[in-house]
Amino acid sequence: MNNNLLIYNTLTRKKEKFEPVNPPLVGLYVCGPTVYGDVHLGNCRTFVSFDLIYRYLCHVGFKVRYVRNITDAGHLEGDRDEGDDKFAKKAKLEKLEPMEIVQKYTIGFHNVMSLFNALPPSIEPTATGHICEQIEMVEQLIKNGYAYEVNGTVYFDVEKYRTEYNYTILTNRQLEDLLANTRELGGQDEKRGRLDFALWIKAKPEHIMHWPSPWGQGFPGWHIECSAMSRKYLGDLFDIHGGGMDLAATHHTNEIAQSQACNHTTPAKYWMHTNMLTVNGTRMSKSAGNGFLPKELFTGNHPLLTQGFSPMTVRFFMLQAHYRSTLDFSNEALLASSKGFKRLMTAYGLLDKLKPATHSECNIQELKERCYAAMDDDFNSPILIAELFEAVRIINSVYDGKAAITESDLKELKKLFNEFVFDILGLKEEASENQDLNSLLDFIIKLRSEAKNSKDYATSDKIRIGLQQLGIQLKDNKDETIWSKV
Ligand code: AMP
Ligand code: ZN
Repeated sequence: MNNNLLIYNTLTRKKEKFEPVNPPLVGLYVCGPTVYGDVHLGNCRTFVSFDLIYRYLCHVGFKVRYVRNITDAGHLEGDRDEGDDKFAKKAKLEKLEPMEIVQKYTIGFHNVMSLFNALPPSIEPTATGHICEQIEMVEQLIKNGYAYEVNGTVYFDVEKYRTEYNYTILTNRQLEDLLANTRELGGQDEKRGRLDFALWIKAKPEHIMHWPSPWGQGFPGWHIECSAMSRKYLGDLFDIHGGGMDLAATHHTNEIAQSQACNHTTPAKYWMHTNMLTVNGTRMSKSAGNGFLPKELFTGNHPLLTQGFSPMTVRFFMLQAHYRSTLDFSNEALLASSKGFKRLMTAYGLLDKLKPATHSECNIQELKERCYAAMDDDFNSPILIAELFEAVRIINSVYDGKAAITESDLKELKKLFNEFVFDILGLKEEASENQDLNSLLDFIIKLRSEAKNSKDYATSDKIRIGLQQLGIQLKDNKDETIWSKV
């Protein structure tokens, strides 16, 4: 395997040569969604970015075990240690069981990911399916002296941890800044230190989801699930841990502390963080109320959109930005991406029509090297896409008879397109199903009115009844016939 990959590591704040712990195996853990509501486009951006990363690692020959969890318990409002459970709150609102909420939004998430052509992870563990592993880890942390129990709740002792390790190693934030964002401990507080966080939380009577533990009925804190599940499936030390940038300061900082204090090693060699999708410069989030749902985008049913955009156009739009840059969402940007994606696919369609010549005026080998160089440079998809537009330019000039290409170069060009556009960028051709159905029905409706006009009612009825049996209803208005699905 030819491994020239450089990865930007948040831990060291620089690009580093990617050297897996145990090549060719690669362990990749990505923090998955909290399934108490529909995923918005920002969440999708993060998962599409890791899909690109996963695809490229596999493409260059690594044997990747990709673990992406589902958070289905233990996530309290405002990401704090007290307050309403997000699942229970939504369950009350929708008059469902919390596990019905989990099931509903997990299925929704999977459907959206498959529309975006994201490959499923190798393992998708849930927090509720790993309560034992989390309890075990909390017990180990108490045994190692980094956690303490008060009244059925167990806290991580950041004060103690800080005396031995660098708590803010991931973000390099000043402790004073962190403290400024926390409130003073009051007399009622159980925590010993202001930065301490809950590992296990005592269930109050209003909590519906709770489990027995050595500390009584309760539920896990948010951060412990990822430490417990990454350890179970990838080991104490694995290669890449990822998630959105918003997770670095708290969730990942606490994950590192938990794993380090429990296993005596930092959990991952490389920490990768995707940047945020923004709308007019503001981060897209459920709480800010600017969360576009994928469905609104596909149908165009949103005041900021002039039309619907297909899943592949949106995927292409996302990949046109590097995963570490912010990406601002707008109708104009999507319109431009839609044009670009069409240009790419049209060129692909022309590939089979090109006539080979005895000599080449294009250097496909060099182009291929530049494509690899782009991806090897911390998965730089915008540069890769720019190189692919060079391929489009070559295809168009050969098609127009302005350039020549040999048979073997043509074969290489097709391979390059297939590998980079479809396997690595994960784009695919989209059948415009609705468009096809529209034209087909227009044609059938025309045949029916011709039959009617020539008083061949037997045929026109046969068409109407036949369509009805296929679930399509025709309605004759004054001067037109319209159809709808029944
Ligand atoms: P959550 O379901 O809130 O836990 O988020 C799931 C993933 O989406 C996490 O990795 C977040 O960092 C990421 N995420 C949330 N908002 C955005 C956004 N606006 N842009 C990109 N990623 C996001
Ligand atoms: Zn996590």
